[in-house]
Amino acid sequence: MPQQHRAPTSTANREPHRQRAERDIIALGIVVAAILMFVGTGSTVLTTIARSYLFGEAGTDRLLSNALVLNIALVIFGWRRYAELTREIAERRHAEIASQRLAETDALTGCLNRRSLDPALDTLIETAQKSGRVAVLLMIDLDGFKRSNDAHGHQIGDIVLCQTTDRIRAIMPDDALIARLGGDEFICAMILDAPARSAAETILLRLNLAIAAPIESADSMIIVTASIGVSSSEQASVVPIFRLAQDLLHRADLAMYEAKKNGRNRFCWFEDAMEQKLRLRRQFETDMRDGIMRGEFVPYYEKQIDLETGEVIGFEMLARWHSPRFGLINPEQFISVAEEIGLIAQLSESLIAQALADAGDWNPKLSLSVNISPIQLRDPLFAQRILKLLVQANFPPSRLEIEITESCLHENIEIVRSLIASLQNQGVRVCLDDFGTGYASLAQLRALPFDRIKIDRSFVSTLISNSESPAIVEAISSLARSMDMPITAEGIESPEVLAQLRKFGKFNGQGYLYGQPRSADDTRRELSMQQLDENDAPAHQTQNLKSATT
Ligand code: C2E
Ligand code: MG
Ligand code: MG
Repeated sequence: MPQQHRAPTSTANREPHRQRAERDIIALGIVVAAILMFVGTGSTVLTTIARSYLFGEAGTDRLLSNALVLNIALVIFGWRRYAELTREIAERRHAEIASQRLAETDALTGCLNRRSLDPALDTLIETAQKSGRVAVLLMIDLDGFKRSNDAHGHQIGDIVLCQTTDRIRAIMPDDALIARLGGDEFICAMILDAPARSAAETILLRLNLAIAAPIESADSMIIVTASIGVSSSEQASVVPIFRLAQDLLHRADLAMYEAKKNGRNRFCWFEDAMEQKLRLRRQFETDMRDGIMRGEFVPYYEKQIDLETGEVIGFEMLARWHSPRFGLINPEQFISVAEEIGLIAQLSESLIAQALADAGDWNPKLSLSVNISPIQLRDPLFAQRILKLLVQANFPPSRLEIEITESCLHENIEIVRSLIASLQNQGVRVCLDDFGTGYASLAQLRALPFDRIKIDRSFVSTLISNSESPAIVEAISSLARSMDMPITAEGIESPEVLAQLRKFGKFNGQGYLYGQPRSADDTRRELSMQQLDENDAPAHQTQNLKSATT
């Protein structure tokens, strides 16, 4: 890795330069004076010496001879100083060129850096415009680089970045710009003949393929892919030239996010609709921030049933947003946004606090399950935060169950393990949600002492309609049973599914067969009606009511 030099710009560095320049001027003055004196005295003294040798005339003036010797010494000194000076100037020039190059390039990959990209891009666009050709800009973001960096360490991360740069260089035209904006983000720009789309796509396809090829490191094989956003000056003809570079960057950025959203490891051209989407997204984010403050996010509750007895044993809290602008919104639309904009912890804690208050009024036998985002588990104080909420609501920890998804297992497993341990020490149960959709290994499952696993609804709800689902549900059930872990099946939508499920053993369950998630008021009403029924009806009738859905 090239060493980083600091450009000699500080005041501390400038002072010795000035002193040296002053010294050089004095030295130059002395040399010029010495040469003049040499010319003046040299001819007299040398002629006198020659005469005294040739014609035996009287000897030279001693003072003049000494002056001549001094003169010669000064000229030699001057000459040496001149040579030194020339060398110093050459060295300084080299150092300046090197430090400028370092200031303009990314030290790791040798690409242009953020600072040098703008002027280089302006020049490229101007060249393209003058020659009637097209400037095409690519925003390349590596997929999964952070995860690979976390898993294999920064040294391997550096190797990945350098190899990726080499692959990009090998494919881009020789005169293309290649810049790294830090992290795993690259920008490339090239000039192509109009229309540029098909030539650009040939390059883009090759880029995606080359970057996705495995990278061999000392002891592992690493695969990263790239999401590439593309914009071109052909699409941006209405933008004034001075704003074109910024506009192309902005458009390629939007297109890159689209490529990520569409599944990564692909390229995506900018389209006008993306701008509209961005405006909507910004609106959504602003509304979310305001909505949290205004209490528009509320808990809904979905029944959880003991499938053997038919009894309601608890509720899962599922967030809903009553947005004045967008209507009733499901969590799948806003949880990921809250995670991206850093609101998830605040939102989740406000929902859990409301849910603990609601559940405080229910029958104390009923449990409350809450979903937690993987991002919240990165907070080392997470367990303490939950405990604080429990204390504030005076809610028994044994009634609370925390649901985490398999994606949490991709986080630092040690942190997750210690979080689970501290929650369980407080008496809170921890459950692995949506099991089967991620890639939790048997080893991970054994390493983390979950209290329960939940089979994902996509397998349960399709037990009848999809021929593969029964085998998956059976496999998960026997795995959980072999580990002595109770199971909840989500997504029970019909009596047929329930009947099929029962063949695989004993479960708790939830799903639309038992009712949709309902608001806090509706849930409270339903529970008190049930309580009334139970108080009124003779014991055998209550049992019949319960088993109506079993
Ligand atoms: P989940 O935890 O797996 O929740 C179950 C989801 O399945 C809920 O969707 C529920 O309405 C739906 N569902 C229930 N029964 C059935 C059924 O019989 N058939 C079908 N097709 N679906 C059923 P919902 O409420 O839209 O929640 C979606 C996901 O959002 C949840 O999946 C959970 O992962 C997440 N989520 C919900 N609330 C929160 C929250 O407060 N914090 C976090 N981090 N995530 C939440
Ligand atoms: Mg859940
Ligand atoms: Mg689930």
